[in-house]
Amino acid sequence: MTQIPSSAELDAADPLARFRERFAPSAGLVAYLDGNSLGRPLAASLENLERVAREEWGGRLIRGWDEVWLDEPVRLGDRLAEVALGAAAGQTVIGDSTTVLLYKQIRAALALRPGRDEIVVHRDDFPTDRYVLEGIAAETGATLRWIDPGDVTPDAVAALAGPRTALVVLSAIAYRSGALADVVAITDLVHGAGALMLWDLCHAVGAIPLELDAWGVDLAVGCGYKYLNGGPGAPAFAYVRAGLLEEYRQPIQGWIGSATPFEMGQGYAPGPGIRRVLSGTPPILGMAALGPAIEMLAEAGMDAVRTKSMALTEHALSLADELLPTAVLASPRDPARRGGHVTLDHDGFEVIMPRLWERGVIPDFRRPNGIRLGLSPLSTGFAEVEAGVRAIAEELAAAGA
Ligand SMILES: *Cc1c(COP(=O)(O)O)cnc(C)c1O
Repeated sequence: MTQIPSSAELDAADPLARFRERFAPSAGLVAYLDGNSLGRPLAASLENLERVAREEWGGRLIRGWDEVWLDEPVRLGDRLAEVALGAAAGQTVIGDSTTVLLYKQIRAALALRPGRDEIVVHRDDFPTDRYVLEGIAAETGATLRWIDPGDVTPDAVAALAGPRTALVVLSAIAYRSGALADVVAITDLVHGAGALMLWDLCHAVGAIPLELDAWGVDLAVGCGYKYLNGGPGAPAFAYVRAGLLEEYRQPIQGWIGSATPFEMGQGYAPGPGIRRVLSGTPPILGMAALGPAIEMLAEAGMDAVRTKSMALTEHALSLADELLPTAVLASPRDPARRGGHVTLDHDGFEVIMPRLWERGVIPDFRRPNGIRLGLSPLSTGFAEVEAGVRAIAEELAAAGA
């Protein structure tokens, strides 16, 4: 039996502990262990939502488009790029949902690699990524080459990437297991095959430091409502490497992404630079919650966020080893190989979920039998993790599971 480190001591020594009080209180909350599905709201985000609605929408009315809103997708995208993506300005835009941005990016990538008709994808990737790819394959005649279930390795990618490969689409952090892919090695070998690399960063952004420019990543997308705390349905982001932008064409040719949105003219011409990724009217209210959360990440620093994230998942595993000995770890043991969440499998988890929610303990259940503990570094405390794991153990015992 391992010794559980003291949660109180870990909290007292946590240099990021002060950020926890920036989050809006949630009545009855004991342990929020689902920050990787929906981040908690910052008090400043709630205030900014109100301010944007009241002052900008109510105050500026239609003038808001000319005065501030039209530039907001690129302005906020650049700020996110600087704070959390390791990307220079002009390559990131805040836009539609991740699903829609995936569609646009994948279609654009195929058009950038004419004569190539295969896309490499992972059997275990998040459903929307697979479904969008299946739709695009049906629409364009492209062939999907599937990496088998399990952790994604450079060897598995190398076995499928070749002269017919246009694009490889993978998640940097697996949504189920939390496994962190070898982003640099995979990107390099995809380039070696002459293909483009699209990383889905939904579970990575705001949890691990990213260096998209230095790593030579071609395309990326990621969610605004997980570790970026942008709220339910928050707009997602898209990154396009600067060198690709001139030739980049995406299929949802809306007026806001065109060269001349307000001329209402005939014929679409793509807008300048990263603006061409946009389609229709950008979700200004959705971005209002995202802004303060990105500023908080800037203040904390992504390296410190990662350090705490690894300490939180380590703590969760120590607690689980001791208190949940019959659960099976479905995440990498080595903290350097996982992201911000850990998954435990146990056949008793499904029946105890309603009881846990009643108690204000909120993990997330993934069929068939996995509990994910998503530990958002800036909102989660070590004692909170302990309270959550203890509650899970108590409910399992009460259920006789
Ligand atoms: C959360 C998540 C999504 C969500 O896509 P939406 O369009 O926001 O529903 C997509 N892909 C991955 C890998 C995710 O983790």
